[in-house]
Amino acid sequence: MIAPNEPRRLVLWDIDHTLLESGGMGREMYERAVPAAIGRPFRQLADVSGRTELDIIAETLKLHGVEPTDAAVSRLVNALIDSYEAGRDEFASRARVLPGAREVLEVLAGEPGVHQGVLTGNLRTVARIKLVALGLEQFLDLETSAYGDDHVDRVELVAIARERAARQLDTPFAPAGTVLIGDTPRDVIVALIAGVQVIAVATGRSSVEELEAAGAGNVLTDLTNTDQLVRLVRG
Ligand SMILES: [Mg+2]
Repeated sequence: MIAPNEPRRLVLWDIDHTLLESGGMGREMYERAVPAAIGRPFRQLADVSGRTELDIIAETLKLHGVEPTDAAVSRLVNALIDSYEAGRDEFASRARVLPGAREVLEVLAGEPGVHQGVLTGNLRTVARIKLVALGLEQFLDLETSAYGDDHVDRVELVAIARERAARQLDTPFAPAGTVLIGDTPRDVIVALIAGVQVIAVATGRSSVEELEAAGAGNVLTDLTNTDQLVRLVRG
């Protein structure tokens, strides 16, 4: 419970390449799901970096010559969820938590006034499967979060997560008290457009320089310096 006068921070974590690495399973799940959804062999996956799953799904359908109608999108959504559900154990053995992630999640979970959720392009069900497989869900409130099936535009996910947090916790989180943590220039740009704070981590495909160029004031090489990260979150 957050006391009324306590400084409040809503921390919204990106998942892939920020908290964890899927060990190539993100692509393989599409290789399994596409034939199941459209009855054609897998050809190509859309660029996934920083995008929402609805966005990736629509483009992947087009790359297979399928018009991304609501029906076609929901067939691929469902096939993807089925693939992750069937592949839970495989995911748990192949994926890994990135260095420092578990420790900082645990420390922040114990910080007064800090509330942690996720802001991810992943489908809600898939996000949960990934986090549970690696034992990270215990530190996060997956209700005060936003997902790739909430909206096709990642920018909209910020307002959705803040609204959910305000409703669930019965207290508002100001934009200045909302902190996105992610690994792509897209995460940074989303935070800037939404007017919230951002901490970028260069544990994905983007370098420190690329994340700075996107406009991030705070860029870390990884999550191993727990004290520094907690200080940045406190602001
Ligand atoms: Mg990411």
